[in-house]
Amino acid sequence: MEEVKVKIPPGRICIHDGRCPNGCSLMNRRKLFSGKAAITAAVRLRGKMGLIHFNPLYGVFEYQCDLPLKKGDVVDAYCPHCNVSLSVETQCGMCQVPMFAIQLPNGGEVRACPTVGCRNHELTIVDLDAQIAQLYSEERRPKM
Ligand SMILES: [Zn+2]
Ligand SMILES: [Zn+2]
Repeated sequence: MEEVKVKIPPGRICIHDGRCPNGCSLMNRRKLFSGKAAITAAVRLRGKMGLIHFNPLYGVFEYQCDLPLKKGDVVDAYCPHCNVSLSVETQCGMCQVPMFAIQLPNGGEVRACPTVGCRNHELTIVDLDAQIAQLYSEERRPKM
């Protein structure tokens, strides 16, 4: 299938179903950003394991990590449930390191660069119509 890369304005799409390649949900309802469940992954840096929580709004580069991260550190990201690596073959065009990916329903994925301070990430959508319909369904509801 053809991959479609979409440029989306920051903060417009909330990821509410992100998974590891084995299907574990990475959504974490015990950690909230603006009332939305965080995306939580395990990370390893300099031999230490920790957890990183991402704001689920696509394009908002907000995260909390229980390891001290410095600009330029490159973390390894894992599923916190089954420990599978989240890294993929696609490399960050800016840092030349393998990116990591969070799987979306219908075959899409969000890829992000594991270098602290690098803002390169992208949303890759395989089944565009289904994915957009799902991603935007929340916004079409009338606002109270
Ligand atoms: Zn898993
Ligand atoms: Zn990068």
